[in-house]
Amino acid sequence: MAKVIFKELASNQIVLFPENISDLIPANHPVRLVNQVVDQLDISSILQQYAGGGTSSFHPRMMIKVLFYSYLSNIYSCRKIEKALQENIYFMWLSGKSYPDFRTINMFRGKRLKKEIHKLFAEIVKILQECGYVSLEVQYIDGTKIESASNKYTFVWRGSVEKNKAKLENKIASILDDIDNQIKEDSSEPNKEEVKKPIDSEEIKNRLSELNKKLKQKDKATEKQLHELQHELLPRLEKYESQLDIMGNRNSFSKTDHDATFMRTKEDHMMNGQLKPCYNPQISTENQFITHFSIHQTPGDTTTFTSHLTSFEQLHRKQSKEVVADAGYGSEQNFELLESKNIEAYVKYSYFHIEQKRKAKNNIFSVQNLFYNSDEDYYVCPMGQHLVNIGQGIRISDNGYKSNVTFYKASNCQGCPLRAMCHKASGDRQIEVNHRLNQLKAKARENLTNEKGLYHRSKRPVEPEAVFGQLKSNNKFNRFTLRGLEKVNIEFGLMAIAHNLRKMAA
Ligand code: SF4
Repeated sequence: MAKVIFKELASNQIVLFPENISDLIPANHPVRLVNQVVDQLDISSILQQYAGGGTSSFHPRMMIKVLFYSYLSNIYSCRKIEKALQENIYFMWLSGKSYPDFRTINMFRGKRLKKEIHKLFAEIVKILQECGYVSLEVQYIDGTKIESASNKYTFVWRGSVEKNKAKLENKIASILDDIDNQIKEDSSEPNKEEVKKPIDSEEIKNRLSELNKKLKQKDKATEKQLHELQHELLPRLEKYESQLDIMGNRNSFSKTDHDATFMRTKEDHMMNGQLKPCYNPQISTENQFITHFSIHQTPGDTTTFTSHLTSFEQLHRKQSKEVVADAGYGSEQNFELLESKNIEAYVKYSYFHIEQKRKAKNNIFSVQNLFYNSDEDYYVCPMGQHLVNIGQGIRISDNGYKSNVTFYKASNCQGCPLRAMCHKASGDRQIEVNHRLNQLKAKARENLTNEKGLYHRSKRPVEPEAVFGQLKSNNKFNRFTLRGLEKVNIEFGLMAIAHNLRKMAA
């Protein structure tokens, strides 16, 4: 049998000259890029946050390097970052063998980066632009739902709060009426007609103090009613009021993360359509780099567009010339916004794909295929009857945008042989037309079907959607680890920066 030779076990070997950690790090390792990029960042506003005095602080530039590199390495927990700083040579090299503990890292991330994350992100995008990776002339926009750190079963729904609050208000009103009637019976003063004010917790507090003054000698029943009002019903009403206050214009929130809203997600492992507490991050990408991000509390993409586009302009002090987005963004309000900013819209609208199909094009009954006489403002149906203008109306969207619509009606559909194919409503056919939206859609259709539009449409699925795939699937970022809108902003900002650095390094 041949002799077995083992390599020498040298863990305790003493070296004459201590090794430099830098020599152990490959020249093209991503940690070197993080180090180089962060060295270029302007962190003066973070430095100004330090009041001075007391013990020495860890240098913010070092903390930023560590945080960027941890998110790039899929380490999101401060305890794990603390551990990596003690065990991982890349972290040791970045930190210069400083060992901030998890509380210090958490405090720096949550407090010092609160107002700075967008600035740092913008600086990274500026570097990408200077290096020629992005031009900021075009943005591919999309959104996704990411679960909040809160528990799934902590929901508060607007419907149930409003229902319970109404019931409670009725109960309170009836008790107050009872007591009022009793006072009137006991009093020798003539009855005065009182103006009833709407019941809220402030009003009840005022009424309670008034009643306590008026009712110097209370019988047992009244005393019980007052006790119930003060110690049971008033706190419940205050709770409902505060819940509606937290909800704002949303329909739900989570008890353990008030800023999270319950949304339907694509990742429904239980396959039961259960809603989960989520945030709705929106991103703009170019060449798969994230050029902008914003976090929203509403599930629909349509309503996030205005604020996302406006904040892009504020962040980069310029607006892109082209915007590419899917049908979730194709509303009248969004098309108007793009037109007002002179942005070329490559944005689909609902029914864009259906409209392109032969079946839809050949449907002689559909509104878009009816002949429209714009001079005399009437439509002509397949039987040659005129559908005339019978009035205007206003449609208000979920976010309060008002659209003008016009109604047209035929005068006699009775006995028409095509009636069964034409419309299902009883009576004569009536249609509703939004002329402004039709104009905007026609412009979008023209853009989407020209050469550039076809190029953007083929590129869109490998732009933001691929980036979300990388974040969620490759980097396992399926849930925020921090709670509250501000901290979620920081966390997503760090993810976006790490994604850009990872792509730069690749
Ligand atoms: S049902 Fe009325 S609107 Fe439809 S084709 Fe006949 S006449 Fe025209």
